[in-house]
Amino acid sequence: MISVVLVEDEDSIAAPLVRHLEREAFVVTRVADLAAARQRLAVAEPDVLLLDLTLPDGDGLDLCREIRERSGLPIIMLTARAEVQDRVVGLTVGADDYVPKPFSAAELVARIHAILRRRGPATPAEETPITVGGVTLDPRSRTVRVVGEPVQLAPREFDLLHLLIANAGKVLRREEIMDAVWDPNWFGSTKTLDVHIAWLRRKIERDASAPRYLLTARGVGFRFASSDELGD
Ligand code: CA
Repeated sequence: MISVVLVEDEDSIAAPLVRHLEREAFVVTRVADLAAARQRLAVAEPDVLLLDLTLPDGDGLDLCREIRERSGLPIIMLTARAEVQDRVVGLTVGADDYVPKPFSAAELVARIHAILRRRGPATPAEETPITVGGVTLDPRSRTVRVVGEPVQLAPREFDLLHLLIANAGKVLRREEIMDAVWDPNWFGSTKTLDVHIAWLRRKIERDASAPRYLLTARGVGFRFASSDELGD
């Protein structure tokens, strides 16, 4: 399920758009000004932010700039054609895309999917060790320690854990995981994924039947618990 925050003050634009997005199975939170948007984003970042520029309490570009200082949250700007100059500014301050009003909801949905496809899950290309909870994974030496104890993983298990821990706290869809960790032309059963998760659990969890680290998002995929959840 893709979560969206829509910042738009005009009900005549927001209401039909929210209905359309919900029909397409997005989870939508709509807010009508910058203050409410900041509040909402402080609680949790959505998968995508749809941002109107002309808002009652200020300029959407300012919010875009603020967000870019701390996060790579995908942002699509919604704005009137008369503000076409803003396109340049918008992309300069870090928006991912720009949709001039009036736009069709279907087009907007296509843009959202395009952005998420381009981004995919964060690629675990970082060379620095990642520690979440008691688990430390070092991409350079391809070693894993759980509460200081080294754990031996097969190459595929390592890659799978790397992807999940690099995205700790975020549910990755089964297809995303299969695409990233297995050959893109893999057409075997996705049961393979469950088997590898089970093996990993046996190696890194204290109790594989009550996992703390490798959590199942039923019907969607898997995620590695966030450091907040793990309490450190
Ligand atoms: Ca507006």
